[in-house]
Amino acid sequence: MSLSFDPDTVSLPVGHFIGGELVAAEGAIELRRPSDGKVYAACPVAGVDIVDRAVESAKAALKSSNWSNVRPRERTKALQTWADLIEAEAETLARIEALCSTRPVGQLVAGDIAITAEQIGFFAEFADKEGSELVPTDNVSLGMIMSEPYGVVGAITPWNFPISMAGWKLAPALAAGNAVILKPSEMTPYSAVFMAQLAVRAGLPAGLVNVVLGDGPTTGTALTGHPEIAKISFTGSTRAGSAIMENVARTGVKPMTLELGGKSPQIVFADADLDKAAMAIAGSVTFNAGQACVAGTRLIVERSVAANLTAAILERMKAVRPGPTWDEATQYSPVISERQRARIDGIVKAAVEAGAECLTGGNVIDNPGYFYEPTLIANVDHPNPAIVEEIFGPVLTIQTFETEEEALALSTHPTYGLASGLFTSDLSRTIRFARKLEAGTVWVNRYSRSRDHILPTGGYKRSGIGKDLGREAYHANRRTKSVLISL
Ligand code: NAD
Repeated sequence: MSLSFDPDTVSLPVGHFIGGELVAAEGAIELRRPSDGKVYAACPVAGVDIVDRAVESAKAALKSSNWSNVRPRERTKALQTWADLIEAEAETLARIEALCSTRPVGQLVAGDIAITAEQIGFFAEFADKEGSELVPTDNVSLGMIMSEPYGVVGAITPWNFPISMAGWKLAPALAAGNAVILKPSEMTPYSAVFMAQLAVRAGLPAGLVNVVLGDGPTTGTALTGHPEIAKISFTGSTRAGSAIMENVARTGVKPMTLELGGKSPQIVFADADLDKAAMAIAGSVTFNAGQACVAGTRLIVERSVAANLTAAILERMKAVRPGPTWDEATQYSPVISERQRARIDGIVKAAVEAGAECLTGGNVIDNPGYFYEPTLIANVDHPNPAIVEEIFGPVLTIQTFETEEEALALSTHPTYGLASGLFTSDLSRTIRFARKLEAGTVWVNRYSRSRDHILPTGGYKRSGIGKDLGREAYHANRRTKSVLISL
């Protein structure tokens, strides 16, 4: 059966989700469908009162369900039931997401949603396997590192992969025994509400997952500054991450996981499989129209193969066909908003004005939605804005090198260090670069995640603090207590 759908027929779960109930609220932020620009809803903005209510509901749910202290396998089973229900409701969830966001419905069902369900299952399995430990002491003592959940965790997510980002935050926090208040992006709020509804339908205690809708300055600030939210997990821009650190410092100290922006390099040596490299590189900047934190937006290629590689990437970029996110055949996404598209265009035009050459793209696509041409820019160097700024769009720059030292120097960004790609067939060089690259992820001869959820993701430098996925994400949702008993 086709996954394509009529966007005018989708019903959205409009409202906050608190204590297992949809809480109606007046819309304040006008929302437009990225694929055709039509207004479809207005997102409410929760103030301190709504955030308070969500916190109270989370505390009550923890108390009445004993979620933090039940036999851990009970948490595993409940979360796996939720994951199964998400898979079973994948089409409904995909319609909500495809309507509101830049994610095409075909990629959602087989990709984002299937992977999110798998990741919930992955974290569910930690509940009864990772915990406290006994430590070596003398034999008249017993030393323990006792691990326990925080209680109420606050999570804030961006608009680029709303379901995946909600899953990355909710799954480890819940498996670790916490309740969560999630604030999705005000631009894509509804898939998270539906996921929370599914959690209750799957049997998770009402109030364990609460979703408050709203913007950063009002709702986000109320959440990060709330005295009874014990930990914050955030994914978004470095700018917002800094604002959150400031607010947390002002309102009380609490731990934070911050997954922030990037400007990731892809380094290609002449001994690489150039076809494979071209496919990975073009794919990385056109997937979700480059709106991915790890998008490999700076190509750094050995001069002797630059012309061949550029031609192969150009061919792939030019083959891309835009389409609405509700068409199953669509592979190339719109940009999230008119404003974001204008920002992308502004940086590209400024780069050209500063001497760069646009080899393809560089313009908005004449379509009803917010589409932008895949764009390849040559003759750029630091401090051209196209090299320095996170564009968050389908824009790739090319720089060339002759020596390893040059490649390494070009790849190092002054502030970001999220991901990096390396294409070479030389094993020693691979290890040398893996050691030297200043990034939280190094992909070699590929540029994408796999479904090995045990590999954590996170940034160096101003790309973030702490990790999502992997063991680290689970442990980031628990705190430890050192217990020493004199026998
Ligand atoms: P954004 O920072 O504008 O918003 C992200 C979220 O933070 C939204 O929910 C927003 O409402 C909220 N927010 C904004 N200001 C806030 C404040 N002062 N206090 C509390 N909350 C606040 O980012 P965006 O435009 O939604 O997403 C794009 C950014 O996210 C890019 O920089 C991208 O690199 C980053 N990102 C990073 C990762 C990662 O894993 N490192 C993953 C996806 C996206």
